[in-house]
Amino acid sequence: MKLIIASNNKHKIYEIKNILGGRFEEILSLGEAGIDHETVEDGKTFMENALKKAREIAEISGCAALADDSGITAHALGDKPGIYSARFSGGHGNDADNNALLLKLLSDKEDKGAHYTCAMALVYPDGRTVTAEGYMYGTITPDARGERGFGYDPIFIADGESRTVAEMTDEEKNAISHRGRALALLLEKI
Ligand code: IMP
Repeated sequence: MKLIIASNNKHKIYEIKNILGGRFEEILSLGEAGIDHETVEDGKTFMENALKKAREIAEISGCAALADDSGITAHALGDKPGIYSARFSGGHGNDADNNALLLKLLSDKEDKGAHYTCAMALVYPDGRTVTAEGYMYGTITPDARGERGFGYDPIFIADGESRTVAEMTDEEKNAISHRGRALALLLEKI
């Protein structure tokens, strides 16, 4: 079966393709499938946004569509940045500004605890839907390190680790990440 990843985020697409490997005949990004569509992410939860993205792409393409909505939550900041992680500092997806703002807001907070959430939704052309969520808990460090991963990875240290996620290999991140865990659960259900 052909699967379309309902995302334009090249980092997410890379990680999802790596984790899914040979589970689908063909895995295409929106660009590779020739689909020019941006979902308005106006849901109140990660899962509402993931479902909306997957449903729209399954309908447009007539193929199975997989959507990931994800982000980070700093415990001292309530649910922030949460579903607004990509656009925390305003513009969409400016990682450096987002990280700087998160560090600034946490600078006077004792609790540096945080977790990533990933909501995955798989929607088939007939509307059948499978969902799963995964989490990765850890702490935010002001000492940004590492070149791998994306987003908040250079300032996030997973519980039990001393390296930031951006210092881990792809395989190491996928084994413990919110995305890796959500996909593993999803695969168990299909
Ligand atoms: P979305 O594309 O609306 O789901 O936004 C996802 C945003 O959450 C990204 O732009 C990152 O800021 C953050 N994020 C999600 N997953 C990760 C991850 O694995 N590493 C680092 N940042 C992530």
